[in-house]
Amino acid sequence: MHYETLFQEIHSELQSVEDPGQVGDYIPELAHVNPDQFGVHLTTVGGEEFAFGDAEKRFSIQSIAKVFTFVLAYSRIKSSIWERTGLEPAGTPFNSLVQLEYDRGIPRNPFINAGAIVICDILASELASPKENILSFIHRITGTDSIDYNSKVALSEKKTGYRNYALVNLMKSFANIKNDIDRVMDIYFHICSIEMSCKELCRSFLFLANNGIVPFSGEQILTASRTKRVNALMQTCGFYDEAGEFTFKVGLPGKSGVGGGIVAVHPEKYTIAVWSPRLNKKGNSFKGMLFLEELTSRTSSSIF
Ligand code: GLN
Repeated sequence: MHYETLFQEIHSELQSVEDPGQVGDYIPELAHVNPDQFGVHLTTVGGEEFAFGDAEKRFSIQSIAKVFTFVLAYSRIKSSIWERTGLEPAGTPFNSLVQLEYDRGIPRNPFINAGAIVICDILASELASPKENILSFIHRITGTDSIDYNSKVALSEKKTGYRNYALVNLMKSFANIKNDIDRVMDIYFHICSIEMSCKELCRSFLFLANNGIVPFSGEQILTASRTKRVNALMQTCGFYDEAGEFTFKVGLPGKSGVGGGIVAVHPEKYTIAVWSPRLNKKGNSFKGMLFLEELTSRTSSSIF
């Protein structure tokens, strides 16, 4: 399959679709991003690469990083992770507080903000230097050492992250946060600030399409069974209260971020990343979702 021609075709057709979205400006630093950028990249498990547009331009990956931290925690603490977070779709916005009160501080899943904050707390207990260790994990699975935090974005979110502080305080009141709140939130805000390109995101997610093994280094990150579970979680929880719609329309496990990025995995075949900064009302990339829907429909490559 020669994807580049298809990328061009779909992109030019989507030019005429009016994008009602806005960039995610509740994090002030993200408001400066040029909203008209667009990139897509596909990498096959065998190492073939296809790109279009701003595929090599780095952007703020935001919640996509929740997959990296979850995988790192899951590879270390195994089943007891499910005593700290659930594994059910939330059906509420990514930063909602409502469910935490009913479930006594246990988040519905590790991909909403509350769940990712708990995972940061686990990593704060498990790792000697969490921020360095998380970054070096990402370097290993991507094969690129220059990926870094953007401290301006992390600080911008820290200054305005009232909801995230509300979540962590509520969970601390139920004893589901073990470390100092500021230490945990420093890790959380930093992981959200990581910048990567579509090309790098494709490489970093490739082990999830390859039974847990990084194809270009041979390193086993997760067992095949745990890899299947991470993909299942992305399928059911990767797009917050739009996970059903993404499954319905695109049909691949994936994860989005408010920087406008989406990564999706076709097990045993490929990873695909798309970036378009304007977001729909659920905080997912408007054009990114449309693009992936067109792509999987035209290539009949939904997993269903
Ligand atoms: N850093 C963002 C937040 O905590 C991440 C949200 C997202 O990408 N959905 O609100």
